[in-house]
Amino acid sequence: MGAGTGRAGPAGAGAGATGRRGEGMSEVMDLEALNYDLAQEVVPEWWRKLLSCMQCGTCSATCPTAYAMDYTPRQLWQMIRLGLEAEVLTSRTFWLCTVCKSCQVRCPRGIRLTDTMVALKEYAHRQGAEVPELLVTLGETVLQHHNISGDDNKTRLIWSQNLPDPPMGVNPLRRTAEVVYFVGCVSAFYPRAYSIPQALVQVLDRAGVAFTTLGGEELCCGYPLYVAGLGERMAELARHNLERVRGVGAKRVVFSCPSCYYAWSHLYPEMMDVSGLQFQHATEFLAEVLTGGKLPLGPVEMAVTYHDPCDLGRKSGVYDAPREVLRAIPGLELREMESSGVDGMCCGGGGDVEIADREVTVSVAARRLAQVQATGANTVVSACQQCKRTLQEGARKNRIRVRAIDVVELLWLSVQTADQIAEDEQAVGG
Ligand code: SF4
Ligand code: SF4
Ligand code: SF4
Repeated sequence: MGAGTGRAGPAGAGAGATGRRGEGMSEVMDLEALNYDLAQEVVPEWWRKLLSCMQCGTCSATCPTAYAMDYTPRQLWQMIRLGLEAEVLTSRTFWLCTVCKSCQVRCPRGIRLTDTMVALKEYAHRQGAEVPELLVTLGETVLQHHNISGDDNKTRLIWSQNLPDPPMGVNPLRRTAEVVYFVGCVSAFYPRAYSIPQALVQVLDRAGVAFTTLGGEELCCGYPLYVAGLGERMAELARHNLERVRGVGAKRVVFSCPSCYYAWSHLYPEMMDVSGLQFQHATEFLAEVLTGGKLPLGPVEMAVTYHDPCDLGRKSGVYDAPREVLRAIPGLELREMESSGVDGMCCGGGGDVEIADREVTVSVAARRLAQVQATGANTVVSACQQCKRTLQEGARKNRIRVRAIDVVELLWLSVQTADQIAEDEQAVGG
């Protein structure tokens, strides 16, 4: 179906004179107006399910970015059912989707709504529709440089340069290892996130884990391509990464980036054989390590709240491990926010929305930070470098006095405190 061939919708379905486009759209289903072509083109696997939408509006009510969209998610589904292709393709609704899955887990019809938003981006590319320019640039950068920043990919371990004593596996790399730590682009190339891989490799080393990184041989996992609607182009990156992991004989891959973790555990298996490999987020791996009592933990007297990253929580079902790690730290008080776990609110940093419209990300982060402040804690802990960056930037831009930190950083602080106490005791005793 070519752009612009969608049939005209009911009165009020186009640009409205007031407020959001589409306001005033007919609420009564005119069965004669249904046109299944567009739904079949966009989501061939679940178009029938999409047509079962009962227009309850739950998806729009839960959507963190609906306020900035020209059509709410509910309106968009209706437009697809009516075959309004031109209006759908020129909407910015799906470009502002953070892919948080909040709508998908709540839809009473069980429709794959988040996946439909991603499918719409793919469809827009296929149809040659207008794509936000910076997203086009991002896609080109990842494909050309194999990372999201456009830096020389060989410099992926730059974050490790000022470590006092770089563990083996980072410098030098191990030729063979049971565990590969897949660092991810944000931690590797954005200085504000360096402290996360720095903390993790030191914790792993302290726990006696024989791990390695892939150094400059690690390529972007491809997730940013997927959420930009360019998922079919991530296969080459995925194959390369898998070959390198198999090359060192690893059985486990550990991630500090929930998006990388999601890509490897949910998207890679659709493209290739990943059998024999276990994928774990760093917090899952560390919760296991802590059970074995291999890490000394010292007190960290602080009240914190935990922000569930969407890719780790709702999209991967990992809610307990980060909390277990936090609860293991003596002196740390964990306070839950008004919405947490499966109901956790998105920070605004997902789905490349920061690239499509930075202001939307900053504003969504402010809403999440208000929930942080309501707990009385002035530190929000997450388990994702992108959430940390987003919440930090949101706090700075909105002048909110909240500090963002990663679970792994807090754990390393606790280990260092224990070491310091042991050293002091030895000095006194000796
Ligand atoms: S929540 Fe589901 S049923 Fe309700 S409007 Fe959204 S898509 Fe339709
Ligand atoms: S996935 Fe999240 S951001 Fe996207 S439409 Fe659903 S609720 Fe909104
Ligand atoms: S998903 Fe992970 S590897 Fe991919 S760009 Fe983000 S941080 Fe980098």
